[in-house]
Amino acid sequence: MQFLTDFVEQVKAKNLYRQTVTYSPVSPAHVQLGGQTYLMLASNNYLGLTHNPVVQQAAIDAIRMYGTGAGGARLTTGTFPLFEQLEQELAKFKETEDAVVFNTGYMANIGVISALAGPDDVIFSDEFNHASIIDGCRLSRARVVVYRHNDMEHLQGLLTATDCQGKRMIITDGVFSMDGDIAPLDTIVELAETVNAIVIVDDAHATGVLGPGGRGTAAYFGVKDKVQVQIGTLSKALGAEGGFVAGSRALIDYIKNRARSFIFSTALAPSTIAAALAALRELSARPEMTVKLSENAQYVRTLLQAANLPVFNGITPIIPVMIGAADEAVKLTAELKMQGIIMTAIRPPTVPVGTSRLRLTVTAVHQREELSTAVDTIIAAVKQPRTTVR
Ligand code: PMP
Repeated sequence: MQFLTDFVEQVKAKNLYRQTVTYSPVSPAHVQLGGQTYLMLASNNYLGLTHNPVVQQAAIDAIRMYGTGAGGARLTTGTFPLFEQLEQELAKFKETEDAVVFNTGYMANIGVISALAGPDDVIFSDEFNHASIIDGCRLSRARVVVYRHNDMEHLQGLLTATDCQGKRMIITDGVFSMDGDIAPLDTIVELAETVNAIVIVDDAHATGVLGPGGRGTAAYFGVKDKVQVQIGTLSKALGAEGGFVAGSRALIDYIKNRARSFIFSTALAPSTIAAALAALRELSARPEMTVKLSENAQYVRTLLQAANLPVFNGITPIIPVMIGAADEAVKLTAELKMQGIIMTAIRPPTVPVGTSRLRLTVTAVHQREELSTAVDTIIAAVKQPRTTVR
C-alpha cells in the first residue's frame, strides 16, 4: 500500500495537502478553536439560519416527535410527514409543480444527471461547474461537451456543431462556487430553445441568495418556465443539510423512480428536515435577510476594490481575492488566522493552476464593524511584499 503515502507526499510537496480542522461554531459568524474566537469568513451559512432559535426549536421538536434517524430509504419506510411538507413548500418557493429532497446537494446532482442522461445523449457543461455535476455527467455515460466558462458564443458554436442522436442538455451552476459570478441563464435558455435542449441549473449558492426572495437564478433572470430542472441545497443558506430538485410533476415522478442516489440511501433525519422546513419558512417570512446579505457583500467588495485588491465585480456573497500561487494562498490564510479571521485557500484541483485564491464569504448576520476591521486586516496581509512561486 505504498501508493497511499506516495500520493500524500506528492500532494504535500505541491502545497496541495488538505486536512480537516475542527471548529466549534459559537454563532453563525464566529467559531472557537483552541479557546480563541475567530470571525468566520468562509462559511456558506449565508443567512445565519443555523443558529436561528425558531429553526433550532423545530429540529429539537422533530427529534422528540419522530426520533433521531429515519430508519429507511425514502421509497421504503423513511418518508415521514415533514418530508411531504418540505417538498410541497420547496415547490411553492420555486414556483414549480413539485420537488423532491435528496440527502445532499452532491447526491442530488449525481442522481438527477445520471437519471436524465444516458449514452445516446450529449451534455453541454460549463468548465467551472461543481465537482458533483462533473461526477453526475461521468456516471450518466453521456457524451460531455465542456464549454468555456460563461462563454455563450462558445456554447452556441458547440450546440450547432455537435451531432446528437438522443437528448441535449445544458447544465450550469447558477452562482459559481469559486468565483461567485452568475451564469447568464437568460442567454442559455434562448440557446437551448434553438436546439431543443433541456436546461439544468444547480442553485446550491443561489438558493436563499439570488433573485426575488432568494428564489434562485431562474427567478433572478425571470426565466423559470424555461429551466426544466432546478437543483438546490438545504445545506448552505437554509442552514441544514440535503439537496433538492424542483420542476414538473412528471420530472419529479421520474426522478423518484430513476435516481439511484435517491432510491438507495437512507432518508435524512427528522431533525434535519424540520430545520430545513423552518428555515425555508423564515426565508419566506423575512425576505429582507436576502437584501441584507447582498448589502453586506456589496460593502465588503467595494472596500476590497477601493484598496485595489484583485476582486471581480459581482453581486453575490462569494468574493474571491485572487492570489495566484497555492503556497501564497495557504500562507495568507495562516496569517489571517493568527489575526482572528478564518478564510479558505482555494487551490487546484478545485480551481485551475495559478488561480489559487482566498475565498471570502459574507453572511447576512455579519456586523458592519467586524467586516470593516476584517477587510483592513485582509488588505494589509495581501499587500505585504511576497515572493511568489507558481
Ligand atoms: N453544487 C455546488 C455548486 C456546490 O458548491 C456544492 C457544495 N459545495 C454542492 C453542489 C453540493 O452540495 P452539498 O454540500 O449539499 O452536498
